[in-house]
Amino acid sequence: MSDLAENLASVRQRIAAACDRAARDPAGVQLLAVSKKVSPDTVEAAAQLGLRLFGENRVQEAKAKIPLCPGHLRWHFIGHLQSNKCRDAAALFEMIHALDSLPLAEELNARCDQAARTLPVLLEINVSGESSKHGFSPETALRDLAAINALPHLAIHGLMTMAPWSPIAEKARPHFRKLRELRTRCEDALGAPLPELSMGMSGDFEVAIEEGATLIRIGTALFGERKTEATD
Ligand SMILES: *Cc1c(COP(=O)(O)O)cnc(C)c1O
Repeated sequence: MSDLAENLASVRQRIAAACDRAARDPAGVQLLAVSKKVSPDTVEAAAQLGLRLFGENRVQEAKAKIPLCPGHLRWHFIGHLQSNKCRDAAALFEMIHALDSLPLAEELNARCDQAARTLPVLLEINVSGESSKHGFSPETALRDLAAINALPHLAIHGLMTMAPWSPIAEKARPHFRKLRELRTRCEDALGAPLPELSMGMSGDFEVAIEEGATLIRIGTALFGERKTEATD
């Protein structure tokens, strides 16, 4: 087996074990393969192993890469979106994970209007309150939720967060739990379900699954260490 095939088998096994512990159906956890800095050839190898859902964190990189990858793959944008990239993002991606302000939502909505589409989005929540992180605070998310929900070309499907980096996965648990609790408050405020919780990366996805993640974003555990870390 290739490294990638072995890594994927191991990740799948760990997902299944975490679902077991949490009494969850593994069908409720989507594996999103984070392909930033990964070549189109490797994406194709991953597709041959059955992966369909890929995540990119830079519009520029994705715009160059996606046309070189198999056409049946699905792409999510997981990075910090800049307003001048909304047009490309609306054309390239099936979902935006890290919508982090009302003005950005308004800009994205306008671009989706021009593209005649409705775009599923997740609101990024800075649960930990780290100043280095993008995202709504829980309070601003609750404040701006109705205004974003009123934008006709965006569809809020749920929430996303990144736990503070730690070598100890268990430390992420309270942050993931807070995201899940905030989801309930947002659902109550909207009077509508928000099915998706995008949380969990290579270092902490099992804890995230135990706390209710429906989308886990995995790069390193599948593709190995990236050469240089993207900064945003
Ligand atoms: C890079 C990245 C990931 C994947 O991180 P790994 O630790 O390599 O699994 C997940 N989410 C976001 C937003 C990222 O930028």
